[in-house]
Amino acid sequence: MDSELKYHDCRNDPEVESSWAEYDGRGIYLCRVCWKCRSAKLGTYRRKVLRTFYGENDVCEQIEPDEW
Ligand SMILES: [Zn+2]
Repeated sequence: MDSELKYHDCRNDPEVESSWAEYDGRGIYLCRVCWKCRSAKLGTYRRKVLRTFYGENDVCEQIEPDEW
């Protein structure tokens, strides 16, 4: 399940209303993410250089998305 999210096509998922580009701490483009796949995708970059503007907590676990 989780590994599939790494290849999640955010813009073609009807459950996803918004997706955004994610950048690493140096402003280098990583990938497009949404609330569903963000942790899965960013998890692959994390070991390297990921220092987002959001902080670690946000990246970790977002099991229950706020309703919006
Ligand atoms: Zn996605």
